[in-house]
Amino acid sequence: MTDFTMEKGADGVAVITWDVPGKSMNVMSMEAWPQLEGLVDDALADDAVKGIVIASGKDSFAGGMDLNVIARMKESAGDDPARGLFEGLMGAHGILRKIERAGMDAKTNKGGKPIAAALPGTALGIGLEIPLATHRIFCADNPKAKIGLPEIMVGIFPGMGGTTRLVRKMGAMAASPFLLEGKMMAPAKAKAAGIIDEVVADPLAAAKEWVLNAKDADILKPWDAKGYKMPGGAPYHPAGFMTFVGASAMVNGKTKGVYPAAKALLSAVYEGALVPFDTALKIEARWFTNVLMNPSSGNMIRSLFINKEALEKGAVRPTDVPDQRVKKVGVLGAGMMGAGIALVSAQAGIEVVLIDQKQEAADRGKAYTESFMDKGIAKKKATPEKKEEVLSRITATTDYAALSDADLIIEAVFEDPKVKAEVTKAVDAVTKEDCIFATNTSTLPISELAKASKNAEQFIGIHFFSPVEKMMLVEIIKGGETGDRAVAKALDFVRQIRKTPIVVNDARFFYANRCIIPYINEGIRMVKEGVAPALIENAAKMVGMPLGPLQLVDETSIDLGAKIARATKAAMGDAYPDGEVDEVIFWMEGEGRLGRKAKAGFYDYDEKGKRLGLSGVVTEQYPQAKEQPALIDVQHRLLFVQSLEAVRALEEGVLMDIREGDVGAILGWGFAPWSGGPLSWLDMLGAPYAADRCDQLEDAHGARFHCPDLLRDMAEKNQSFYGRFGDVSEAA
Ligand code: NAD
Repeated sequence: MTDFTMEKGADGVAVITWDVPGKSMNVMSMEAWPQLEGLVDDALADDAVKGIVIASGKDSFAGGMDLNVIARMKESAGDDPARGLFEGLMGAHGILRKIERAGMDAKTNKGGKPIAAALPGTALGIGLEIPLATHRIFCADNPKAKIGLPEIMVGIFPGMGGTTRLVRKMGAMAASPFLLEGKMMAPAKAKAAGIIDEVVADPLAAAKEWVLNAKDADILKPWDAKGYKMPGGAPYHPAGFMTFVGASAMVNGKTKGVYPAAKALLSAVYEGALVPFDTALKIEARWFTNVLMNPSSGNMIRSLFINKEALEKGAVRPTDVPDQRVKKVGVLGAGMMGAGIALVSAQAGIEVVLIDQKQEAADRGKAYTESFMDKGIAKKKATPEKKEEVLSRITATTDYAALSDADLIIEAVFEDPKVKAEVTKAVDAVTKEDCIFATNTSTLPISELAKASKNAEQFIGIHFFSPVEKMMLVEIIKGGETGDRAVAKALDFVRQIRKTPIVVNDARFFYANRCIIPYINEGIRMVKEGVAPALIENAAKMVGMPLGPLQLVDETSIDLGAKIARATKAAMGDAYPDGEVDEVIFWMEGEGRLGRKAKAGFYDYDEKGKRLGLSGVVTEQYPQAKEQPALIDVQHRLLFVQSLEAVRALEEGVLMDIREGDVGAILGWGFAPWSGGPLSWLDMLGAPYAADRCDQLEDAHGARFHCPDLLRDMAEKNQSFYGRFGDVSEAA
């Protein structure tokens, strides 16, 4: 069985069909390249063949390169991996260039065979790079199909000629949303943008007809013709100059220079634009090799694609529990979180009973879905019918009797154990025996809350992040007695609402908040020490955090921080380590600088709540020291303080799987995505260096940087997390 097959028709058209056995969508593998090349060679050499169409046996063309293959490319590239990768890439370029030149004479550009691509639907990544090498791209008029080059989203860039060809076809400016942002579009829009050439009812028939009628001039690519000029201008053209200078500033502004793929892509485009096409392909291959050699690309693919998808598909789901998909969910508390949970559940087709103390409050919670859908209609992402359908699934009420046939309850009432216990009992009195009860608490121990339940085995934490409809991570927390069916129920529910789950054991702040609170605290601590707030915030962003710690606490609010600090101190007593931080937090609270909502925090805001800049009021209270620390020291404090917490969570068995530690960190609080997550980041540093750095940071800043035993042991054995724990890990 091969991925590519060819049929030569009596009409003189050879149709090469891509149809990977056993897969619903084509993906490119290493083995398939030579098959494609062999068939192209055969068709080009056969005098009976007048033209070639590359088509698909699926309802789409291809989803791209198999990312599992890309993730392992470096390891499988031999003893000199950079050379191996470069040569492999040049081999692929050779095949695509053979398609593009199609046997034409090098000097006269005549005598080639027309080759067209017939796309029945989606064509992404290499699935678009192959068509871009053909002479004409025909796509079915399929509004659900996606056309694009999304490589940048997983830390690489289009490295099979897509970068070089798209820029030459469209110009650097027009190509930039597709290359730099991975923008994907439906065929009609892709045609309007100039990526594909034709949108037709029957792409195979249209492509066949075209290849039979195409002339020499139709199959000569503009960049192979004499006098080619790049659309929009090459870098030394006045218009091109503006594009390239602007692109560099824009990319650095957006990425702060931490994503190797974005930089390499820009270099490949810029350098490639200055030289002939074949040299440009070589430059593209060199930069692509550079990206593949950088651990960031492999780590990003591993966390953001392979492991994220594995978790979504139930990698950690108890295997012997039957399907637990939710039919009716009861949401208790129609506040900020409850309203969001009701919305995403109803969108997923689940019946929702939304309960609050007063009917007005329940109605307000339901109105959140209404206004969300209205915004969707305004943006043409939803229809009035869809809105009615979603709204009709939500019953807003105060009546617990409506929960009698619910199979899952999610409680999102006030963060108060007494209130939560009352609600739990009230629910237990009306629900079915097998109903699973979940709490959305962010700070209260699940095992404690479970005591109010009549069945602790059926009690679990399902912790959403705010805003629910935007945040992709859901943290599922097992209490001491939580059973497998509750875990399966929570996982099946998260799958229904299309989010990414991690499953952790019960401990203070679970996983995400356990890591993010120290990040915020470290930023505040530095303010107290006299580190310039601008240095703290920029250091965080320049190491890939989406928000600096001070902006983050302004967003989540200072009073919430103060509340958590007081509760934690009460629970921990003398062992409480964050007195220094609290001094700043409590001062801010006293000053009414509660963050964005109060239009004053570590930042100043205008009357509409727009952030203006870091506040002088804060630095007046905590003056900046004359000597400022080095950027790398600030960055290491901010990343180590989170990463060591992740290691401790693993060591203590809160995290049960390193994949969840990394995926959860990126999706939950945006931990430097370029690194692949905190454990991947420590692997990049190497355990021996990381352990040494812990010692230095501990000496300089205190016990919170103490090297965990697990990391010390790994340093001694020179191990990595992914080496030691493999993909499916048990805590040490
Ligand atoms: P909120 O104050 O916006 O909403 C709480 C709602 O619960 C209110 O509408 C209130 O009327 C209702 N309520 C209180 N007692 C009730 C009772 N006995 N019966 C029915 N309804 C009752 O709070 P929120 O921000 O939505 O948080 C709710 C829960 O989610 C808390 O446990 C919180 O810790 C957790 N959580 C919050 C966030 C966040 O970012 N806000 C994130 C994750 C988890």
